[in-house]
Amino acid sequence: MYDFVVVGVGPPGARFARRTAEAGYDVLALDKGAIGEPLACSGHVSTDIWAFTGEGAREQLFQNAVYGARFHVGGPHSDAYPFYKREVASNVIDRVGLDCHLADLARDAGADVRERRTVTEVTEHRDRVSVVANGPDGAEEYEAKMVAGCDGPRSRVRNQLGLPQPGELLHGVLAFSSEADSQDFVDVHLTPPTFFAWRIPRGEAGVEYGLAAPPGVHVNKHFQDLIDGYEVDVSHRCSGAIPIGPPGRITTRRAFLIGDAAAQTKPFTGGGILYGMTSADHAACEIDPDRPSTLAAYEYAWRQDLKREVELGHWLRRAYSLPEPVQRIGLGALSGEIGVHMDRPTSLVSPTHLKAVLSRLRG
Ligand SMILES: Cc1cc2nc3c(=O)[nH]c(=O)nc-3n(C[C@H](O)[C@H](O)[C@H](O)COP(=O)(O)OP(=O)(O)OC[C@H]3O[C@@H](n4cnc5c(N)ncnc54)[C@H](O)[C@@H]3O)c2cc1C
Repeated sequence: MYDFVVVGVGPPGARFARRTAEAGYDVLALDKGAIGEPLACSGHVSTDIWAFTGEGAREQLFQNAVYGARFHVGGPHSDAYPFYKREVASNVIDRVGLDCHLADLARDAGADVRERRTVTEVTEHRDRVSVVANGPDGAEEYEAKMVAGCDGPRSRVRNQLGLPQPGELLHGVLAFSSEADSQDFVDVHLTPPTFFAWRIPRGEAGVEYGLAAPPGVHVNKHFQDLIDGYEVDVSHRCSGAIPIGPPGRITTRRAFLIGDAAAQTKPFTGGGILYGMTSADHAACEIDPDRPSTLAAYEYAWRQDLKREVELGHWLRRAYSLPEPVQRIGLGALSGEIGVHMDRPTSLVSPTHLKAVLSRLRG
């Protein structure tokens, strides 16, 4: 019997597998595909990412450094409202490479990471959990003291255990043009209803164009408008779901969710790599597989850490739905140098941000 079976080896699953294996637990991690594939993510992250990686990661994964974002109320030719920092605000990284790197760290720590295993059934018993997976040689059954559902926005583990769904599932699309671009600004277009479209320069890896919006919005039409506006040819189109709004409960007696399965994402960008891995650390720190009561400590710890960020993130997102003239006035008044951390909206009231605003006002 394993201490933990981890279902899904994206960043939070790999992080949890690594940290628990390092702590001496017997860990099996299963992923339905090849690690990192298919790609459905921009890999645009704060520089905090490098606290979660190992040796040589930056050289291997880094694509571009970003200092700020130009916001637009309309398409590519509309007015730009820049928000920027004096130092690097974020990095664009190779997301498939990140997943492979994090899975290797989990393996090095002693976790048994197996690809091409699709988990189909999760059954909780009083003293254990059984997990059935379809592998290359047919069905396999495993037993564990606990199961970590790290299997993304449409989590099978969540559904099997009857845990509540995230508040919302946005539909995201991405595609790439091939010209090298190392500009230090991303562009954000507040054109699709309640969310946004983007352009991300990825250095030698080309330029990414993307968009996310709620169900019912004509994502393909908005995406085509974006591409036409930039007058580019794109390829390697891909898409994925973005969960927003964590459900009220993400644990049962012997199972728990981490990452997109638990909607541990930023409501104003959909980014979930850092929140998922931060929550994985809380899970690894709090959960003892021999003491199911410790699951409550995990619920408490990650919510304490991220609750205010998520709440404020919901408020920021509301600004995407303001009438255009109000958006223009707001963006015009607030644009300029900022001191905000991209994962921590509460830093809007930090001394760093206030200093940046004051220095701007002084001219
Ligand atoms: C278009 C788009 C752009 C994004 N851009 C960014 C960004 O720039 N920055 C950022 O921070 N976040 C971004 N995100 C969000 C980010 O991709 C997710 O928050 C992050 O991938 C969450 O990791 P996860 O491991 O929880 O889920 P996933 O990355 O979805 O990984 C889940 C894993 O579980 C596996 N799995 C699923 N079901 C099963 C099963 N039944 N059995 C076994 N394995 C299974 C999958 O194969 C996968 O490897 C974006 C998302 C989208 C859709």
